[in-house]
Amino acid sequence: MGTFDGPGLRYVVFLQGCPFKCLYCANPDTIDPVGESKETDASYILEQAISMKPFFGKRGGITFSGGEPTVQAEALVPLFRQLKEAGLHICVDSNGAVWNKHVEELFSLADLVLLDVKQINNARHEHITGRPNSRTLETAEWLEQHNHPFWLRYVLVPGLSDFEEDLRALGEHFAGYKCIERVELLPYHRLGVHKYEAMGWAYQLPDTKENTPEQLKKAEDILREYFPQLVVN
Ligand code: SF4
Repeated sequence: MGTFDGPGLRYVVFLQGCPFKCLYCANPDTIDPVGESKETDASYILEQAISMKPFFGKRGGITFSGGEPTVQAEALVPLFRQLKEAGLHICVDSNGAVWNKHVEELFSLADLVLLDVKQINNARHEHITGRPNSRTLETAEWLEQHNHPFWLRYVLVPGLSDFEEDLRALGEHFAGYKCIERVELLPYHRLGVHKYEAMGWAYQLPDTKENTPEQLKKAEDILREYFPQLVVN
């Protein structure tokens, strides 16, 4: 259960597999498509979600996160249909980097997409994630064109995604979007470091410190010029 991945109280399902390899990934154990996870039957997730429905209230529901849930879009589509039939609010937390007909259907079935934009500057995006940001931006455009509500999420990493020119470019790119219900500025944190140690992986940002209050405030002030719906989490 969580309160940070979409509105209200939510049942959060973390799925394996991600095409990115972000330098600061807090869930590195979910990047591998198989990992150490056991295969989970979709009917189990449905059953759990329905049993939790009384706790969700008017705003809560189920969120699929990861990893990148759209990697398993084909398998998720039937589950999403069943969740909708059961009257559950569905969120997908996505980096927007996977696209095919199943992903399109998955997003159409979801009530809300939480779209993580890692960097608007493509060179820095490639440095952070190992992949370009073009598909993510196209996904955002698809959501806007299809009148599909989404939240824009942005992690502020010192020295990687906190440059004023990039924050302004992000603002200029998305300020006119009507379907962005909320913009979340997420501070960089190091909560995943112990996972790297446990996996025997080197943490890629050993010297990067968490944001100072001044860094966060500066970014907040810049983004608020473009997004009145900005929230700092
Ligand atoms: S997109 Fe998310 S899950 Fe994938 S590597 Fe980046 S932070 Fe990790």
